[in-house]
Amino acid sequence: MRAVAKGVRRTKSRFGARVEPFAHVDVQLHQGRSLDIVTQVITRDAFGGVLAANYGKYTSGSAMLEVAERLTDQEREPAVQQYLLLLGGLRSLAGGEHRPGLVLDAYLLRSLAVGGYAASFSDCARCGAAGPHRAFSVAAGGAVCSDCRPPGSAAPAPATLELLSALLTGDWVLADASDERTCAEAAGLTAAFLQYHLEAGLRSLRHVDRS
Ligand SMILES: [Zn+2]
Repeated sequence: MRAVAKGVRRTKSRFGARVEPFAHVDVQLHQGRSLDIVTQVITRDAFGGVLAANYGKYTSGSAMLEVAERLTDQEREPAVQQYLLLLGGLRSLAGGEHRPGLVLDAYLLRSLAVGGYAASFSDCARCGAAGPHRAFSVAAGGAVCSDCRPPGSAAPAPATLELLSALLTGDWVLADASDERTCAEAAGLTAAFLQYHLEAGLRSLRHVDRS
């Protein structure tokens, strides 16, 4: 939810760095006329310093924050699953457990699935025929069989679809063992899937270095 933290830019601010991006905080709010006002902030995790020191982590984290905001646009509506996904993703990024781009793509695929846009990476997204299938269509919802494949479908490498499936289900052994080319193709399909469903392109995704 949106709220105002008054005077945060002053050097003697009571909140200071605690309300910067990537800060995981407990916040006490005073109900205001239009926007609530922050009255107290307690830091749970300060991810900002670690993420800001690494370009890959920072850009991936920024994209995660932007997507999280887009997927939780109902004010005062609890979104516990999205919250836990975002927190887990930021924690993984900060901890350096996996490549930042993979953490981002796992987060994107899962948060979209929670938001109602689950992709299929094995069975046909249209008729349900058992996979694996060669064709992939963002508009159809993922992997498509030869009967259902719309014109212009992509034909990613089988390893790419396996990686995407692993990222969605949390198979990090397979994901971490993937080569750069497979990761790059998976990132491209994930970005296409995300942008199709969120319609407008996400600004921060363009800064993520996939090379
Ligand atoms: Zn089909």
